[in-house]
Amino acid sequence: MNDSDGGKVDETSAHFDTRAIHVGQAFDPTTGAIIPPIYQTSTFVQDGVGGLRGGYEYGRSGNPTRTALEQLLASLEGGRRAFAFSSGLAGEDALLRAVLKPADRVVLGNDAYGGTHRLIDRIHGAWGVLNTTVDLTDLGAVRDALSAEPTRILWIESPSNPLMKISDIEALAELAHGVGALVVVDNTFASPALQQPIALGADVVVHSATKYLGGHSDVIGGAVIVNDVDLAERVAFQQFAAGAILAPQEAWLTIRGIKTLGIRMQRHSQNALEIANWLAGHPAIERVYYPGLSSHPGHQLAARQMSDFGGMLSLALAGGAPAARHLAESTHLFQLAESLGGVESLIGYPTEMTHASVRGTALEVPDNVVRLSVGIEEVSDLIADLEAALGTL
Ligand code: PLP
Repeated sequence: MNDSDGGKVDETSAHFDTRAIHVGQAFDPTTGAIIPPIYQTSTFVQDGVGGLRGGYEYGRSGNPTRTALEQLLASLEGGRRAFAFSSGLAGEDALLRAVLKPADRVVLGNDAYGGTHRLIDRIHGAWGVLNTTVDLTDLGAVRDALSAEPTRILWIESPSNPLMKISDIEALAELAHGVGALVVVDNTFASPALQQPIALGADVVVHSATKYLGGHSDVIGGAVIVNDVDLAERVAFQQFAAGAILAPQEAWLTIRGIKTLGIRMQRHSQNALEIANWLAGHPAIERVYYPGLSSHPGHQLAARQMSDFGGMLSLALAGGAPAARHLAESTHLFQLAESLGGVESLIGYPTEMTHASVRGTALEVPDNVVRLSVGIEEVSDLIADLEAALGTL
């Protein structure tokens, strides 16, 4: 750190938590404000025609607050460039349009986030894009799916939503690159604090920044992080020409959230592990899906490719769908709501909420499953809440 250069950080030597606080966050040179302002503006005055200050012309093509977030995300994911969008799905859509043309095919996990499947299947499908779903934990099945037909993109989500399957990013990237496919990892559940897909061989990382990056349930946003310069230009063009940009206020809130990402993910992981262990011994619970449990089939792999296991877990109720629905409606600290990744704990019933769009498809979620987004409250209060709710079954 060096005061005279406006608080810039050496990105090559600084650690993750240091970069999370300082990259793109040099103090304001005109006032010394330690927090750069929110550039709440739609346009930028020019010094004569084409005389731009700092390259900024119009808020859709660029805004300093958005640039700061994009620099920060590129650094934290170890990518060359990052792009911030108005939602996770808007970012995914821009990436898909930047890469695909009609008759191209996407191979994706058979428990990918329902909205991602809906986007690929129904929006891009209507323009001739094909898709195949496969169990990404079965490398043989993935090899077959990749070689059965030409594949343009392999879309990985690990841990997956909501069944917490762990896929081997390094091995999958190798398989996909072998057939010339682009490897995209949705890193929403792990966040860059716990998992770095580009270092594991992925070409692109996408995020719903709405979740752990924002971290406080007050922003809808998305991000695409890429390493390849040419692909970066194509994503940049989509961002500018189709215009699903992240607004300055949202970019600023996301930056604020990211400053505590590392420490939040530690606490989310610690609380989730404790809750998973507690639930695993409860008679009302048939199964706990949490990669931190040694009984989870992806435990060893998760321990290798993630630095901790994260704050998301799902549970299957022995009492079936009625018990699952009842539990989701009976907790108090765990509030019944869509979304995840905030400091406050949430509970959801995927088959009728987040994954309603994939009911009746191969991506259907069992109807006795409840999903928890474990927050950073005191864990004994969270366990007491679950215990009371389970006691009413
Ligand atoms: N990816 C995952 C894993 C998600 O859980 C979500 C939303 O729940 C998305 C992508 C889409 O993000 P957004 O809701 O910000 O559009």
